Amino acid sequence: MAKKLTPIVKCEICYEKYKSLAGHLRKHGYKAKRYKEEFNALVVSPLTLHRIKMARLRFILRQRAPKKEVAVGTGRPHTEEAKRKISAARSGKKLSNAHKLAISAGLLGHEVSELTRELLRNVEFTDERRKNISKAQSAEKSNSWKGGKSRHLYFGKDKYRLKKIFGDPLKCFFPGCTKIEGENVRSVDCHHLDGDHENNPLDGMNWLPLCRRHHMLSDGRLKSATKKEVKAARDLGYKVHATHMKNHYTGEIKSYHD
Ligand SMILES: [Zn+2]
Ligand SMILES: [Zn+2]
Ligand SMILES: [Zn+2]
Repeated sequence: MAKKLTPIVKCEICYEKYKSLAGHLRKHGYKAKRYKEEFNALVVSPLTLHRIKMARLRFILRQRAPKKEVAVGTGRPHTEEAKRKISAARSGKKLSNAHKLAISAGLLGHEVSELTRELLRNVEFTDERRKNISKAQSAEKSNSWKGGKSRHLYFGKDKYRLKKIFGDPLKCFFPGCTKIEGENVRSVDCHHLDGDHENNPLDGMNWLPLCRRHHMLSDGRLKSATKKEVKAARDLGYKVHATHMKNHYTGEIKSYHD
């Protein structure tokens, strides 16, 4: 599926949008490498990333491309006879890595026969078929599951899973906090109680929606907070989480959309 290549990238810490986060991340005390690891997110826009990849590929291809098939010294194209000889000499040879890269990047294009097209046109998208596809791609079975490391998957589409488990609209669960997503704050975070972003049980046992400030506090990322305050916030987080789970436990949310 083709992703839209936007020229902007969102900072996962403050949600501001930029063309590149390279300089901006310094404001949060982050280096690009640590940011990428912690948030599993891009530092440059998808469009920039695409351009970088393409430039790299073109560079590789230029370096390894076979010389133009022109008869030596004449500047004229090969004769039919010469072409046959070249083709015979090449048959059975493996594709070079550069060639493979070019194919996978779609640089060389690829032909879909009229028959294939006709068949594809006639595939019926019944509800049943949709459901089966969705089931086949849910959670761990999706090829972008990556062992639960993908933020998008563990939240689901539009934080689908979080909302199923913690309520819609999402609110900050920190006692006394009034932040509600879409009402008085643009977005509510998903805090990982044990601090491990890769620990994502689908029943939400390691998740807790928090506003940005209470999330930063609970993670110990607020410079103004003392160690005691951070520990108190974490203990509170566990407590409200346990209470919520006692009263509203949903079990695992396997699908990430309706
Ligand atoms: Zn930011
Ligand atoms: Zn957190
Ligand atoms: Zn809050």
